[in-house]
Amino acid sequence: MNYADMHVHTTASDGTVSPAEVVELALKAGLSAIAITDHDTVSGIAEAQITGSRLGIDIIPGIEISTDYRGHDVHMLGYFIDPDSPELEPVLSWAVNEKNLRNRKIAAALREAGFCIDLGDIESKHAGTVIGRPHIAAEMVAKGYASSVSECFERYLGEGCPFYVPRQRIEFAEAIKFIIRSGGKAVLAHPLQYKFSFSETEKMAALAKTHGCVGIEVYYTGYGESEIAFLLSLAEKYGLIPTGGSDFHGDNKPDISIGQAKVTYDTVRLISPNP
Ligand code: AMP
Ligand code: ZN
Ligand code: FE
Ligand code: FE
Repeated sequence: MNYADMHVHTTASDGTVSPAEVVELALKAGLSAIAITDHDTVSGIAEAQITGSRLGIDIIPGIEISTDYRGHDVHMLGYFIDPDSPELEPVLSWAVNEKNLRNRKIAAALREAGFCIDLGDIESKHAGTVIGRPHIAAEMVAKGYASSVSECFERYLGEGCPFYVPRQRIEFAEAIKFIIRSGGKAVLAHPLQYKFSFSETEKMAALAKTHGCVGIEVYYTGYGESEIAFLLSLAEKYGLIPTGGSDFHGDNKPDISIGQAKVTYDTVRLISPNP
């Protein structure tokens, strides 16, 4: 059987493994395909495709976008987008700019509170990367302010924490339309990460479908049998394709390995615009 991990981050956003190395890990894990789904950027895709064609791993060009769903940060995956689409540039540069403005506010608040954190240092360590909270968290870990990235999110940077700063995000339905305009297929990411009730999760899936979303991420790191069964029932009810992936981030999420959550290659064909 051929398998695909449809949710992988690289150093182009907040993963710690380069696009080329991610493909090598996929080969070692016995996968046939991976989707590169970096946050707000397509800059890792070309490198992954070069290594993919050398090693015989199919690379699905993808993206993950943070959207605004009724004030909540809900993620939308875009698959088979055209990385050269002229639609991408203005929306992605707006999102990256919003993130950078937010990063500056976080860094200023941290310095104000006595943390020795310099955003310029972080940016120069990660040239060519979309910088986000995980990079700030990794720097805080390196300086001894926390023992892990996730502890740093829990104590300082996560929602409800002292250094949480909100940022503007593209509206949920707008994000779906944007993915479609960019030649891609939209899939609702990790629907149980938002801590919604079952009925709110269902409402969100239904709304996504209304606006042209074609899939829902059912197989995801940490989702157990009952969670998968619930998400499969939503997929069935609303005619959404059940997809899956690990959300691999390298050392930024050290408990997740590539291929930990996966789907058969048939799912890739179902999502593909040219099956
Ligand atoms: P940002 O987009 O800069 O606001 O950062 C959000 C990203 O941080 C998410 O998309 C996740 O990839 C990552 N993240 C969120 N919570 C955690 C956590 N507890 N541990 C590690 N990474 C996290
Ligand atoms: Zn991430
Ligand atoms: Fe996500
Ligand atoms: Fe992700």
